[in-house]
Amino acid sequence: MQKTVKTSSYQHALYPDQRGRFGDFGGKFVPESLMAALDELETAYEAALKDEAFQAELHDELINYVGRETPLNYVPRFSALLGKEVKLYLKREDLAHTGAHKINNAMGQGLLAKRMGKQRIIAETGAGQHGVATATVCAKLGLHCIIYMGEVDIQRQSLNVFRMKLLGAEVRSVDTGGKTLKDAINEAIRDWVTNVEDTFYLFGTAAGPAPYPRIVRDFQSVIGREARQQIMEKEGRLPDSIYACIGGGSNAIGIFYPFADAPEVKLIGVEAGGTSMEPGHHASSLVAGRPGVLHGAMSYLLQSEDGQILDTQSISAGLDYPGVGPEHSYMKDTGRASYVTANDATALKGLQVLSETEGIIPALESAHALGYVLEQGEQGKIPDGSLLILNLSGRGDKDMGTVAKALNVKL
Ligand SMILES: *Cc1c(COP(=O)(O)O)cnc(C)c1O
Repeated sequence: MQKTVKTSSYQHALYPDQRGRFGDFGGKFVPESLMAALDELETAYEAALKDEAFQAELHDELINYVGRETPLNYVPRFSALLGKEVKLYLKREDLAHTGAHKINNAMGQGLLAKRMGKQRIIAETGAGQHGVATATVCAKLGLHCIIYMGEVDIQRQSLNVFRMKLLGAEVRSVDTGGKTLKDAINEAIRDWVTNVEDTFYLFGTAAGPAPYPRIVRDFQSVIGREARQQIMEKEGRLPDSIYACIGGGSNAIGIFYPFADAPEVKLIGVEAGGTSMEPGHHASSLVAGRPGVLHGAMSYLLQSEDGQILDTQSISAGLDYPGVGPEHSYMKDTGRASYVTANDATALKGLQVLSETEGIIPALESAHALGYVLEQGEQGKIPDGSLLILNLSGRGDKDMGTVAKALNVKL
């Protein structure tokens, strides 16, 4: 069993360090053959950061193609359910092109691949959302796209598979292990080892080996930078709390990071509580896991006593991952952010209440954060006059089949 030393205090600007670590977490636990590829990626990324032409191109695509900036909406009817004079704002990533935040990162890495002269893009996908975002960006930029997806997920998410194919991507079925996301990542890593020369691995969340957690965080931080400016314009002060759902942690770190240097802003990550907190029935890595190594990095993960990765379960396919990005593990251990869980029923309620009160049907992933806030409000735990922001990571269209089934409605 891995032990970690409690990192004494959260140091915002310093992380990750030169070894790609966030305190005790992160790093590069990969085969020797990938070390050079990760180094090449890191060097190219550093150069792109300083390249004004690259930054201008990214900015232009985010505005004109992705549809940024996304609105920050005050939701008065939903807020009224949370407490006296509580004001909740939603950061509307559901209004970004393709319906979720994932495109921010896919566009950033796609442009980086182009800049590095890599024409062949590989990616993993679970629910298919990252696959769709990657296929979209590859179509736009004229890059060859291969998506690895577990056989079980291909059957569960046939609509997204069809979308990827329409967008010109090749979808490769993975039939190893549990035939889901974890196995698709393993297969994509295997491809990368073999084809490192001409291939860019476009990773979908703020996890994986260094430098991915930082690259994904940086590309998603546009969410928090916009939100910080928008809340200052609308309210003239920073929020008391920020909520976001956590799968691998990219939409959450994207909104948390630009507020992390303001200790008065509470950061709350909401994990998937599934059907129960019994092992195998949820996906709450930070709440119920312990540190270990998965997919190239040290982080909290769901594992058995002898270190076997546990199965996960959640009503939302996008949160169904046994690990989490290392920066969240660091934020947990330093106390900078806190992590909680919301189960399937809570998420379903969050989705229904937001739909009925505000005319916004959220993704089931985001609905975990909505349901959690709603419950806190109902229990009188949100102080009067609180100013809150919740990252609405995506729209619910993709989930209508699942929601209908859960509500015993036949379509
Ligand atoms: C993929 C997805 C998530 C979970 O991924 P993170 O990396 O934790 O953000 C959350 N919401 C939506 C809408 C998604 O598609």
